Amino acid sequence: MDGKGKIEWAEKNMRVLSRIRKRFEEEKPLDGLRIGMALHVEAKTAALVRTLVAGGAEVAITGCNPLTTQDDVADALRKEERVSCFARRGMSREEYYNALNAVLDFEPDIIIDDGADLIYLIHEKRKVIADRILGASEETTTGVNRLRSMEEDGVLLFPVIAVNDAYTKYLFDNRYGTGQSTWDGIFRATNSLIAGKKVVVAGYGWCGRGIAMRAKGLGAKVIITEVDEIRALEAVMDGFDVMTMDEASLVGDIFITATGNRDVITRKHFLSMKDGAILANAGHFNVEINVEELEKMAHEARELRPNLREYNLGNKKLYLLADGRLVNLVSGDGHPIEVMDMSFANQALAVEYIAKNAEKLEKKVYRMPEELDREVARIKLETLGIKIDELTEEQAKYLSDWREGT
Ligand code: NAD
Ligand code: SAH
Repeated sequence: MDGKGKIEWAEKNMRVLSRIRKRFEEEKPLDGLRIGMALHVEAKTAALVRTLVAGGAEVAITGCNPLTTQDDVADALRKEERVSCFARRGMSREEYYNALNAVLDFEPDIIIDDGADLIYLIHEKRKVIADRILGASEETTTGVNRLRSMEEDGVLLFPVIAVNDAYTKYLFDNRYGTGQSTWDGIFRATNSLIAGKKVVVAGYGWCGRGIAMRAKGLGAKVIITEVDEIRALEAVMDGFDVMTMDEASLVGDIFITATGNRDVITRKHFLSMKDGAILANAGHFNVEINVEELEKMAHEARELRPNLREYNLGNKKLYLLADGRLVNLVSGDGHPIEVMDMSFANQALAVEYIAKNAEKLEKKVYRMPEELDREVARIKLETLGIKIDELTEEQAKYLSDWREGT
């Protein structure tokens, strides 16, 4: 496939980001800056890279997951002026870290990360370059959690904007993006019918809700597992069955993890699962399903279709998708274009914000500034041709006046 065509199609439908790119072309807010990125290298990410370059930046990029790079898009990016791309699909762990190091050799002023591997590498092994870094932005829940822990431990070396925590990110990307793209990845890997199946979703956070909502729409019987009592209760009231993974493992046909945690599905669950059960992860790295244990238990393992691996446990066969890594990005194109439009509009604005405000920022994790978050929503509504009402002066006064009553 031609990566250039994919990028063109994505850009045509990323109308918020395109608007920001046009402004960046005129104002050049990133002139003279070097940006080092670790994101899933595919067409929507390429559109973000081109936006940053339009703003005057030089960019070095690699993947944030060894299996999610689309090589044709990486090739197309290599042909762009002012872009160095080190990503390739199917990297070993060593190659993955070599590529992250190559991004740091480029001496970036600003970092864009997804999962915090690149930022962690700076703190672990490349502290010398931390001094020149003005700030970073982080794309995903797990990355933000890791960075908040670093801040709490007093070890964070530069400011970070938690792009994940923007309303126009997690409410749409994590929920509707993961909701749709996880199923897209599962369809492509399995060609299975979902109607009537028992689908177990581990984690009822923003991603889990999206996955469960779409499973219901496809006609599945949905079971949720949780460790948080409030989220479990929300799942109950949303109409889903809630049980422990020990119970769910006996009845599920398809298991999907979206917790950001490790060892959510382990040996004891593999032992109680039905023959033919399908396992997929849409959450975090490759630790939610304990793949190592599954490999040890299996007499034989073989790839039956792209991204579908059969494990023969003797009395039954289990099927793991995408090596237990993000099924939506390994076995599909990740989130749909229109949702990444908002996520990456936030990234572009976060980078501009760091460039303009670096001196004022401390070594903390900041929320995305709300005015920028709302700007993304405003532009998105405009591009959809949707108008909304405005508060009258009297209404604004009424809402803020504690004297008003019956
Ligand atoms: P979240 O914090 O909103 O939700 C996670 C939920 O998992 C929480 O409700 C938590 O209580 C629950 N949980 C934790 N441990 C559990 C366990 N052992 N069993 C059952 N439930 C458990 O986070 P989120 O925004 O939904 O993100 C979840 C993960 O997905 C993160 O790792 C995030 O980085 C990742 N993510 C992936 C994609 C993607 O494209 N696949 C998109 C966005 C986020
Ligand atoms: N790097 C880790 C962390 C999870 S990635 C890992 O690979 O396991 C989850 C993030 O991927 C989400 O926050 C989402 O914004 C991003 N994402 C989803 N679809 C994408 C796409 N099509 N292109 C680029 N990023 C995408």
